Amino acid sequence: MSKTFEKLQPLLEKSMALQTARNLFEWDDQTSAPFEAAEYTSKVIGILSDEYMKSMINDDVRKLLKKLQEEKEQEELTSTQKAIVKELAKTYEQLESIPPEEYREFNEYASIANRKWSKAKKDNKYEDYAPYLKKIIEYKKKFAGYRVRNNKNPYEVLLGDYDECFMIKELDIFFEKVKNEIIPLLKDVAKKAETIDKNYNYLSYDVAKQKEFCRFLAGYVGFDFNRGVIAESAHPFTMQLHNHDVRITDRYLENNLESAMFSIIHESGHAIYEMNIEDAITQTLVGGGASMGMHESQSRFYENVLGRSVEFWEPIYDKLVSTYPENLTGITLDHFIKGINKAAPNLIRTEADELSYCIHIIIRYEVEKMIFNDEVDIEELPKVWNQKYQEYMGITPTTDAEGILQDTHWSYGEFGYFPSYAIGTAVASQIFACMKEKMPVDQYLKEGNLTPIREFLRDNIHKYGAVKNTNQILKDVCGEEFNADYYVAYLKEKYEKLYNL
Ligand code: ZN
Repeated sequence: MSKTFEKLQPLLEKSMALQTARNLFEWDDQTSAPFEAAEYTSKVIGILSDEYMKSMINDDVRKLLKKLQEEKEQEELTSTQKAIVKELAKTYEQLESIPPEEYREFNEYASIANRKWSKAKKDNKYEDYAPYLKKIIEYKKKFAGYRVRNNKNPYEVLLGDYDECFMIKELDIFFEKVKNEIIPLLKDVAKKAETIDKNYNYLSYDVAKQKEFCRFLAGYVGFDFNRGVIAESAHPFTMQLHNHDVRITDRYLENNLESAMFSIIHESGHAIYEMNIEDAITQTLVGGGASMGMHESQSRFYENVLGRSVEFWEPIYDKLVSTYPENLTGITLDHFIKGINKAAPNLIRTEADELSYCIHIIIRYEVEKMIFNDEVDIEELPKVWNQKYQEYMGITPTTDAEGILQDTHWSYGEFGYFPSYAIGTAVASQIFACMKEKMPVDQYLKEGNLTPIREFLRDNIHKYGAVKNTNQILKDVCGEEFNADYYVAYLKEKYEKLYNL
């Protein structure tokens, strides 16, 4: 056992405890705190965040980290400890590269820009927001510039913060494939999908019954109620305190049957990942998912790959119909499956179907690349955005609110994040392909037995937390690193079968 690591451990444990406390306040803030609590509680959250930063970034930790990076010390570390040291070094590199004064300035500015974005979206006035966006971009370029090594593109610094396995080269190959194969497929599917009657989905569905059914669905896919709770919030999300306390939320809309059901399956996918992380690494720097993309791969695996398949619904569709007989009697399983997989070109990313989803991400990725290559004026962004929607989807937003203003991410400087959603979606189909080679997945689904599927994910992916990165996980479980061919093949097979193309 490394003596140096032994000294580091209690220091990291303290910062994890502070982070847990902060997370708990944030959970409370978004689920059950009274309306007027926000202003006062945010002060507490701010102090806890400060203390967390101080406990992580200080001379004691810095000295130990430096020592642990020496070759002689590295030899004494276990693979988990090495991963923790690597993660800690990453945190230091990210935070110490920016002068604290500039970082504080940026955070203050970002909260103003975020408010301006929100108002501009409401008023549908991009020009009111553009100067703020411009300054946010300047900050991000400057900060990325501090960390650029070997003449790399500053955009890659940002991409690397979300997943070190996916740089511009990898993403370009991935997205070119999707563009060439999926855009024509979406056009063919859209023509046929027009005739699918989905009115049943928008009838009135009793919210109390929805809550009960969603609870059933969470348990059905493997959410462990002894280690987790479900609450309500404006936007569904997952929050983990550690692997024995993972919390998810859902939102219930009276006139939309699918919304809450697929959200709960999605968040359960995130939660199952966190619950399956080994006890030995929970509440350490590697005690979360491998990357944002990997996390999203698990939620989408449950939501889309399993949750939108006919095999998944076969054992439980009768239960759904008997929960809402007034609306669903006469809607066959086949009709329902076509309904939940209805696809068409559309403008809003968060409402997109499984087939068109990646195209939304590609557009954002291409625009971000242009921004960081200095190839576009910020004032011109709506035009570029609309042109791309016309080119790839065949439709043009009529307002900026349903165009470039729809996402909040850029307003607080989150550039390089969008590709993670697409990576996650594609990783999910790659895992599905290799899982099917190893076990009869469809048969398990038809029997209503999801345990072997969950155990497969636990043993091959979840338990490692962030000890392995995305490509290491894929290589170990599938025998090869990320390969977008699986995703294209999955979508083609699924939609050609569904729509008899
Ligand atoms: Zn998610």
